[in-house]
Amino acid sequence: MNSSRRNFLKLTAASTLAVFPTSADASSGENARNFDDQFGVLVDTAVCVGCRKCEWACDNANSLSDQPLSSFEDKSVFVSRRRPTDQRYTVVNQFASTNDNQKKNYIKLQCMHCNEPACVSACIVGALKKEPEGPVSYDAWKCIGCRYCMVACPFQIPAYEYDNALDPEVRKCTFCLEKLRKGEKPACVAICPNEALTFGKRGDLIKMAQSRIALNPDRYIDHIYGQHEVGGTSWMYLAPVDFALTDLPKLPDNPIPQATETIQHGIFKGFIPPLALYGLLGLAMYSLRQRKQNGDSDDERH
Ligand code: SF4
Ligand code: SF4
Ligand code: SF4
Repeated sequence: MNSSRRNFLKLTAASTLAVFPTSADASSGENARNFDDQFGVLVDTAVCVGCRKCEWACDNANSLSDQPLSSFEDKSVFVSRRRPTDQRYTVVNQFASTNDNQKKNYIKLQCMHCNEPACVSACIVGALKKEPEGPVSYDAWKCIGCRYCMVACPFQIPAYEYDNALDPEVRKCTFCLEKLRKGEKPACVAICPNEALTFGKRGDLIKMAQSRIALNPDRYIDHIYGQHEVGGTSWMYLAPVDFALTDLPKLPDNPIPQATETIQHGIFKGFIPPLALYGLLGLAMYSLRQRKQNGDSDDERH
């Protein structure tokens, strides 16, 4: 059997196996984990000054646009609301911190690294994974580009490289997983000059947030966004106003496996026999890998 054929069968089998643990991971046994011991970040929007240094640090750490720090001092970006993209994993937006629109505050957005991520349960090939440290990681090698994760995410975070015709990937904040594993803070947290971002164990951050609210009841509303939303998130927020005035959506406390179940049930509608589907997925993965390998070879030749 030639190696291409062997690889194809391996990939088909891998994709078949990947379907079941992926859904189960996100909706059953993994729920027993104590998320309080995982890493998280508390974003205090009342302290953030909108300097955008976190955007630069993220750009730099992930080799995105490689623009100098000075280019992130441009405050004209606050004229419109921005969303994270495939070229910018985090963005800072301005919002009115009072109902009369006078005082301004800022909010940094990125992947929330949900405790029970809808993107993970939507991904039928296991390309997305909730790591034991807290981050939701992405494996481009496994990704088949179906973009179910984009549909499932309640925060509209995963971004697809539509401009990359040859080797598109899903891009989002990585929570600087490699840095965390070396005992370092995420790049954005390390650079924040105002300590608007606090990195630590999720349980400790919740206690810190509760204490800040108790000590400063006039400064914060009594709500830690992300403590309970969609089952809790690794990134959590404090704000001086109702979160409806920020960029964070109003969401239920329960995880939202319904969205991912809808996606997966949709796949099985239309009488596509599962084994045939897995075969197709394996073929898609094989074809993608071949393209990537050919691309790599081409790159090496140039
Ligand atoms: S915010 Fe979206 S992309 Fe990030 S972990 Fe949650 S569901 Fe996944
Ligand atoms: S696009 Fe990639 S990461 Fe997203 S659900 Fe599909 S296979 Fe998973
Ligand atoms: S670096 Fe800190 S203070 Fe500056 S915009 Fe980012 S979160 Fe806000």
